[in-house]
Amino acid sequence: MPEIKLRARRGAARDALAANVSEVAPMERTMVAPAAREGAAGDLETVFDLRDVTVSYGGRPAVKGVGMSIARNRITAIIGPSGCGKSTLLRCLNRMNDLVPDARVEGEVLFHGEDLYAPDVDQVDVRRRIGMVFQKPNPFPKSIRENIAFGLKVNRQKVTDERIEQVLRRAALWDEVKDRLGQDAFSLSGGQQQRLCIARAIAIEPEVILMDEPCSALDPIATLAIEDLMRELAEQYTIVIVTHNMQQAARISDRTAFFTVAGTEEGQRFGVLVEYDETIKVFQAPADPRTQDYVTGRFG
Ligand code: ADP
Repeated sequence: MPEIKLRARRGAARDALAANVSEVAPMERTMVAPAAREGAAGDLETVFDLRDVTVSYGGRPAVKGVGMSIARNRITAIIGPSGCGKSTLLRCLNRMNDLVPDARVEGEVLFHGEDLYAPDVDQVDVRRRIGMVFQKPNPFPKSIRENIAFGLKVNRQKVTDERIEQVLRRAALWDEVKDRLGQDAFSLSGGQQQRLCIARAIAIEPEVILMDEPCSALDPIATLAIEDLMRELAEQYTIVIVTHNMQQAARISDRTAFFTVAGTEEGQRFGVLVEYDETIKVFQAPADPRTQDYVTGRFG
């Protein structure tokens, strides 16, 4: 069995994995190479370290007891059925839950070893360093250029034609918009708007980009363009993506965290982390039967 290095999966091997998802039962697939398993132990730099994290709304836990670490310059996918707390967990990585009334985060969320929720941490700075892209493209009702200029200004950078071009190139949008920078952002297609939002996030020069179902409002071709972009961006940024699309998780991510809904005898229901490992392992040889049921489509 040849060794599969993490980087090797960025190409054809990962596409083959994505194509196989939910078509072949995990046990019938080949075993995961040893290198993939060792990588799961975490020989990469840790950006986030979550320890026993519980997020509640109005005293009711939405996701409970999560422990996981997120590696630098990798794409980490969060998957699981609707309502298992994927978005809730994502939002606690840049303190977006602070904006939700009644939301409470317990446990520890460490960012480069520092408590992200310490009283002296500046929330605005946190959201500058840890950017977010949402499900529905949300450009400002301004020109394409002004959307990027906004990001540059947040980062106190000079707005020059060169910087605008550089950012739009990095978001793989330049060729499509270079002759219409003054046009309204809403004149773009949905996929282009989403890449513009990614460009605006990049202009702020974050270290991490959180993406909450960024392709769910897009057609398959626009989705592939965003996925290609994500793979390119992972060279420079740490990306955490929530997706309900398992093929997408298999295609683009290095690590996958599978959540499901658990409950108490009293009828309380909340999300729990079931399995977190190299993506290839989660999809080809999951350790937990609940993961296996989900990735093979036996879960409603
Ligand atoms: P997912 O992203 O996996 O679909 P969510 O994180 O959106 O799950 O939701 C997890 C649980 O938290 C659900 O029961 C949902 O109703 C609840 N929830 C999410 N956002 C809020 C909110 N702003 N206020 C109250 N409850 C919320």
